[in-house]
Amino acid sequence: MQTERRKGHRIGFVPTMGALHEGHSSLVRKARKLSDIVVVSIFVNPAQFGPSEDLANYPRTLRADKKLLRNLDVEYLFTPGNDEMYPDGFQTWIEFEEITRKLEGKFRPGHFRGVATIVAKLFNAITPDIAVFGQKDAQQAVIIKRMVQDLNMPVKISIAPTVREKSGLAISSRNRYFNAEQLDRASCIYRGLRSGRDLIRSGETDVGKIIKAVRKPIEETKGTITEYVSINDALTLEKLDRIDGKVLISLAVRLDGVRLIDNIAAAPGKSKD
Ligand code: AMP
Repeated sequence: MQTERRKGHRIGFVPTMGALHEGHSSLVRKARKLSDIVVVSIFVNPAQFGPSEDLANYPRTLRADKKLLRNLDVEYLFTPGNDEMYPDGFQTWIEFEEITRKLEGKFRPGHFRGVATIVAKLFNAITPDIAVFGQKDAQQAVIIKRMVQDLNMPVKISIAPTVREKSGLAISSRNRYFNAEQLDRASCIYRGLRSGRDLIRSGETDVGKIIKAVRKPIEETKGTITEYVSINDALTLEKLDRIDGKVLISLAVRLDGVRLIDNIAAAPGKSKD
């Protein structure tokens, strides 16, 4: 990267765990627009998986990933090994206060500690000017911005919108676990989020009522378990009792055991995302 920097090139960076899809491609395109060269990393980070999570079964499709990145004219691909990222004796971690105790952090203790630590390490290794993350992982985006600000990291964070299937289902590497019938059922998640957003747009301020509307189509669908549906301030992720400005509706749902997360932004009277 030193050579690229000497040439005066702006470095754009997209960290991923591989099993690349159209969501990742959109991040690469955004990085391309904002910088001169694009670096993508693929690293299935063990530190962000809990003991009962799907680390061993997480989809790994390196050959197809490389092809996709070639087609997007990505200049550099970084695929470090576990020993390189977590050598013997490793003991330095990035920890947060309030911000990781809610939403995903509550259900996945240690997850954001793993995410933030690997992202910080990748930033140090690659020294990007800009890094692009997806709104799909909304709490992650807030946390990374917080870390960069709190630790004076010299990188600009850009957030790209969630890419969805025609059915509304957010594209995810974990969708590979599903067959067509399951994918069809999974579309209940976005239907729930949309009805919540529509209620907010129409002036509803009662969080309980809105959450009920989000849950309805999901709970009517076979094979779902809703872990949480939450309405939070879009910027601070503070939990809200009443709607009063721009909010984030976020949720985690298990469909036939596979854990899916999604979110949607909403504001009273706004008819655009
Ligand atoms: P992952 O490989 O799942 O760790 O995701 C790598 C990056 O891609 C993260 O910044 C995600 O938020 C982002 N991402 C994943 N799915 C989507 C999607 N459907 N739309 C936009 N960004 C996404």
